[in-house]
Amino acid sequence: MKLSDLKRYAKVRERMIREQLLSRNITDQRVLEAMAGIPRHIFVEEALESQAYGDFPLPIGEGQTISQPYIVALMTQMLSLQGSEKVLEVGTGCGYQTAILARLAETVYSVERIKKLLARARINLDRVQCFNALCKVDDGTLGWPENGPYDAIMVTAGGPEIPAALLEQLADPGIMVIPVGDRISQQLTRIVKMNGQITHEAGESVRFVNLIGRQGWQE
Ligand code: SAH
Repeated sequence: MKLSDLKRYAKVRERMIREQLLSRNITDQRVLEAMAGIPRHIFVEEALESQAYGDFPLPIGEGQTISQPYIVALMTQMLSLQGSEKVLEVGTGCGYQTAILARLAETVYSVERIKKLLARARINLDRVQCFNALCKVDDGTLGWPENGPYDAIMVTAGGPEIPAALLEQLADPGIMVIPVGDRISQQLTRIVKMNGQITHEAGESVRFVNLIGRQGWQE
């Protein structure tokens, strides 16, 4: 990519932050910095590059999508990351959210069920020099037990309920964010584990692709 393109996209990114995030209560400075630092256009196919900073999700192939920038920022902010966390992400997709999380935490473990998407995500993550994210192809509703417990868990596909395996792999204290609802629409849910207690807070209404797996929807 040409230097002039990089500069142009950095400007578009600044505008995205002003118009889509600052205006909607994204206040976590570290989240805003991560969103300014990661070139989102790298993560979409070339034909969609000019739309990468729009206020909407985009297709990434295999019937899946990259979330709208605001939703990425909101879900990240809900985790209140400080920098030392071990994070589990379910639904790597194109890897954009993974790269944001990796900027804000120590290590990210990310699970994706579609092999083709993960192969591309790995290339995308290398291109933005994200080296503290480990990925694997698997059913993420079962978590990634070998590396747990996780200080934070983010699920970027919508399920019918909170997968028990994820609740189990959440550290104490720990925070999980997951869209829960039916196949069409869900509620962004924040689960906090603290002193052995689990609390749930329902947030915004959202529309995610289905979380498909043993503790999610059937295909
Ligand atoms: N954060 C991603 C969002 C991708 S859409 C991005 O920014 O690109 C959600 C992703 O979750 C899809 O790629 C889908 O294949 C994946 N997914 C759905 N069910 C899954 C499961 N059980 N385990 C792992 N990944 C899953």
